[in-house]
Amino acid sequence: MKNKGENILVIDDQPANLEVLVSFLKEHHFNIRIAETGEWALQVLETYKPDIIILDVMMPEMDGFETCRRIKANKDTADIPVIFMTALESVQDKVTGFESGGVDYITKPFQQIEVLARINVHIELRKQKLKLEQQKELLKMISITDDLTGLFNRRHMTTILDQEFGRCLRYGTDLSCLLVDLDHFKRINDTYGHDFGDIVLRKFSENMARTIRATDSAFRYGGEEFLILLPQTDINGAIQISENIRKRAENEKVTYKNISTRVTLSGGLCSFHQHHPRTSKEMITFSDNALYTSKKAGRNRMSVYGKYSSKSFPLIPK
Ligand code: GH3
Ligand code: MG
Ligand code: MG
Repeated sequence: MKNKGENILVIDDQPANLEVLVSFLKEHHFNIRIAETGEWALQVLETYKPDIIILDVMMPEMDGFETCRRIKANKDTADIPVIFMTALESVQDKVTGFESGGVDYITKPFQQIEVLARINVHIELRKQKLKLEQQKELLKMISITDDLTGLFNRRHMTTILDQEFGRCLRYGTDLSCLLVDLDHFKRINDTYGHDFGDIVLRKFSENMARTIRATDSAFRYGGEEFLILLPQTDINGAIQISENIRKRAENEKVTYKNISTRVTLSGGLCSFHQHHPRTSKEMITFSDNALYTSKKAGRNRMSVYGKYSSKSFPLIPK
């Protein structure tokens, strides 16, 4: 197996003993760093994250087992494989090595090619583990993302809404919910085609994601309907954000090839402390109700649940 310059930290209080091994590993294209005590190693690990650690057991002050326990207790270094290398060869010592978090145990005197083979096995295992974790992350992202718009999907919306609603109940914080629906969107599809409709949905989503804050979340609720959750935001703050979203759509032309058009939107708002929804579901119902008010009143506007709000800004409810 060809090594690709992986990094190894060798921890031994008598590194001279390992000189032969270290030069052998260097010949095999590993980058080696050495620490002569457990404390020294922990300090090195604060900035240096090797692919593997080779650890002596018998060292003055902090021994190898304790050093390993500390490496494993720190989340930044916990996943670096530790191979013990020691003259201790009793079964109990080996068991202690594994119990303290080691992945392998090599007794001195050692055969260089055996050490090399074991290092390579653990480097390969770690690579596969990291790859699996990345794939898991990617799958998780895919499972909560809407394909077309890149916003969160409806399933994730339910999770986050319940979470945020629970926070309001527990800590008395505020939460606002904005439901938005593009106006006469069917006409866009009918006039310019479904593909252009998709472009409009993407463009609108992009703009909206840029308009909201990092703590807010935008979800695709359904076809051309979107839900925006604004944690720790009262009704007045929510009105301002909703107006920013509305105005941005109103002022922006969506252009593709020889087509250029504007798409407006209508929205409905509900806030936890203003409207006292009893459940997260009711929060959506109230917002939907306000959205219906906006549609009925002529579209391209935002309404607060229980009241009608005109297009003029600011829209502070009385
Ligand atoms: P209103 O102002 O009352 O909301 O009118 P509208 O035409 O927007 O509402 P309606 O519910 O009648 O139509 C929604 C349209 O959105 C119909 C549907 O084909 C379209 N739509 C839903 N999902 C998608 C999508 O993913 N891509 C495209 N291009 N169109 C979609
Ligand atoms: Mg619509
Ligand atoms: Mg709709």
